[in-house]
Amino acid sequence: MSDFDALVVEKVNGDPEMSIKTLTTDQLTAGDVLIKVHYSSVNYKDALIAVKGQFAEKFPMVPGIDLAGEVVESVSEKFKPGDQVLATSYYIGIRNFGGFSEMARIPSKWLVPLPEGLTLREAMTLGTAGFTAALSIDKLEQNGLKPEDGKVLVAGASGGVGSLSVNMLDDLGYHVEASTGHTEEAQYLKSIGARRVIHREEIFDEDQKSIRKRQWIAAIDPIGGKTTQYILSSLDYGGYVATCGLVGGVDVQTTVLPFISRSIQWIGVDSVKYPMEGRKKIWDRLATDLKPSKLTDDIVNEITLNELPDTLKQILEGQIRGRVIVNFK
Ligand code: NDP
Repeated sequence: MSDFDALVVEKVNGDPEMSIKTLTTDQLTAGDVLIKVHYSSVNYKDALIAVKGQFAEKFPMVPGIDLAGEVVESVSEKFKPGDQVLATSYYIGIRNFGGFSEMARIPSKWLVPLPEGLTLREAMTLGTAGFTAALSIDKLEQNGLKPEDGKVLVAGASGGVGSLSVNMLDDLGYHVEASTGHTEEAQYLKSIGARRVIHREEIFDEDQKSIRKRQWIAAIDPIGGKTTQYILSSLDYGGYVATCGLVGGVDVQTTVLPFISRSIQWIGVDSVKYPMEGRKKIWDRLATDLKPSKLTDDIVNEITLNELPDTLKQILEGQIRGRVIVNFK
């Protein structure tokens, strides 16, 4: 396929503009493996790139930090035509043209062979959000977290990282509590594993107390800002929070009190540059014990390339539930 369609973001009078364009493989950015993309997925970061023009190192850019597909050509010895592969983050959709495209050329050092136990579609249902949820859980467990230790809070629960974290933690036997701004999604959150659903305003730190009633032994936090403040002040003795996101802001005010009086830990999670060896291990877990049991149409919404521009705008307004995947097949 020398001609193919892609979502292209250009800067017009300084503002980003999206359109579907026909490209040729000669226009793709550098890389040693050419891939026929079967699926991509939509992440909050993609919307910041496509709608707000943030993160991208140059324009025009084909966004899409995630992709899964089949190798068509390879100069790398690590991959051959016909291999099924996936890729998430690094500089995909930022420096190199990304996954919102029927074809992609990607450096082999960023490619993960599709693990046994996952289809290309399932890999993209997980995508960066699933990888980040799994990495967060893996980090909490490495610090010693076990299901019998107590309740685990998942913030931003109706979103991609949130929904998948709820489902994975429930599958592992944890008592999961979910916070959401979308209370109409309470039934959905219970159906994927939340035992209790609370409104996100209940965990929003208005009064900047650094110590509150102990509520959770651990938390998954894709929100940041005053939500992180609240969580830090409410963890049980020896508790941990894994923070990965910033939809609620980047500034966090705290004191040393919860750290020195409750021995809590604040764990940072980055999926972008996470080293390849560990990355493959997390994908192996995503194909086995961390594969969410409810990767059903309830969590997954499948769209076409033409529907992407509207979806990217909706994600910034918090209007998306669970995961959205783009089908290029
Ligand atoms: P989604 O848009 O799918 O989900 C975000 C959720 O956050 C929303 O569904 C909503 O859930 C909640 N939310 C939205 N706006 C606000 C707000 N103003 N205040 C509080 N909560 C809000 O995004 P993702 O799950 O894909 O990503 C979540 C965050 O994690 C983003 O900041 C993203 O950039 C970051 N991220 C970071 C990664 C890393 O490597 N560090 C990797 C992947 C994601 P609800 O209504 O249920 O509360």
